Amino acid sequence: MAKSSFEYVKKFELDDTLLPNTWIVVRLDGKCFHKFADDHNFKKPNDLRALKLMNYAAFSVMRDFSDLLMGFGQSDEYSFVFKKDCNLYKRRAAKLLTTITSKFSTSYTYYWNKFLGDQQLLYPPSFDGRIVLYPNEDTLIDYMKWRQADVHINNLYNTTFWTLVQEGKLSPTQASFNCYVITLNKGHSFNFYILFQAEKRLCGTVSADKNEILFKEFNINYNNELEIFKRGTLLFRKNINIDESNKCSTVIVDVHDDMLKDSFWKDHKDLFTIKSKQHFIYNGPMTEI
Ligand code: ATP
Ligand code: ATP
Ligand code: MG
Ligand code: MG
Ligand code: MG
Ligand code: MG
Ligand code: MG
Repeated sequence: MAKSSFEYVKKFELDDTLLPNTWIVVRLDGKCFHKFADDHNFKKPNDLRALKLMNYAAFSVMRDFSDLLMGFGQSDEYSFVFKKDCNLYKRRAAKLLTTITSKFSTSYTYYWNKFLGDQQLLYPPSFDGRIVLYPNEDTLIDYMKWRQADVHINNLYNTTFWTLVQEGKLSPTQASFNCYVITLNKGHSFNFYILFQAEKRLCGTVSADKNEILFKEFNINYNNELEIFKRGTLLFRKNINIDESNKCSTVIVDVHDDMLKDSFWKDHKDLFTIKSKQHFIYNGPMTEI
C-alpha cells in the first residue's frame, strides 16, 4: 500500500532504546499518597492492608513480566528489576515504563477490595515512574540496600513520631504549648510556654535516641515491630519441586529479610539468574503477600 502523505510525522518519534546489557530498574511511587492515605483512613504510621495491596499489585506485575527478577516495595513505592539481557519491547524505555506503571496502577485498583474491602476507594490513584540503569551487580545491590535503608530510616522516625502523637499526646504539626506559671517571691508572676510538638522533639535525634524514646517512655522495643514495616518486601521467583517426579514450578515469594547484610546477597546469588520453569504457578503468591 502506498504511504500516506501524513506518514512523515512518524519520524518525529525519537529513539529511546536503553543501553544493552545493563540492569533496568523501574521505580514507581504513589502520587500524593500522603493525602491518599489520609482520605482512605490508612492506619498511621503503617497500614498493613495497604502494604499487602501494594505487594499484591507488584505480584500481579511480576506474574505478567517474566523478565522481571525482583520487586522491592515499601510505603507507596515499588522497584522492579529486569534481568540484564531483557529484550522486551526491544528495550524501549517508554514502552517498558508505561506498561509496568499502568499494570501496577490498575492492579492496585482492581485488587483494592481484596485487602481494603471495608474502605471504599474514593478516587483512582496514580503512580509516577522512572527508569534507572545500573551497570553491574554491585551497584544494583547498593541500589537495593539504599531502598531498604530508606525503609528503616523512615519507619523508625514514623513509629517514634506517631507514638509521641498517639500515646504521648504531642501535637503532630501545629505547635501546641503548655503554659507554666512561675511566681516570684515578691508576688510577681509570669507565664512561660514550652513547645510540645512531635516534630520538634525528634529534631536532631539519631537512631539510638529514637529507640530510647520508644523504649524508656512507651515501653516499645522497636525490634519487635513487624518485619514488613522495618524492612519492606522483596518479591522474587523461586523454583520448587511440586511432586515426587521432581517436576519444577516457579513461584513468586515474598520475604522481609535484611538485605543490608552482604551475606543475604551471597545466600541469594541465583536472584540475578533465575529462569522461570515451564510450569509457572499463576494462582497466587507462595506465602501470604
Ligand atoms: P509524592 O507525590 O511526591 O510521592 P507523597 O505524598 O506520595 O508525595 P511520599 O514521600 O511518596 O509522598 O510518601 C508516601 C506517604 O504515603 C507516606 O508518607 C504515608 O503518609 C503514606 N502511606 C503510604 N503507604 C502507607 C501505608 N501503608 N500506611 C500508612 N501510610 C502510608
Ligand atoms: P500491542 O500490544 O502491540 O499494542 P494490540 O493487540 O493492542 O497490540 P493495536 O495495534 O494497538 O494492537 O490494536 C488494538 C486492537 O484492539 C485493535 O486492532 C482491535 O482488535 C482491538 N480494539 C481496540 N479497541 C477496540 C474497540 N473499541 N472495539 C473493538 N476492538 C477494539
Ligand atoms: Mg515521589
Ligand atoms: Mg508518593
Ligand atoms: Mg513514596
Ligand atoms: Mg493501538
Ligand atoms: Mg495496543
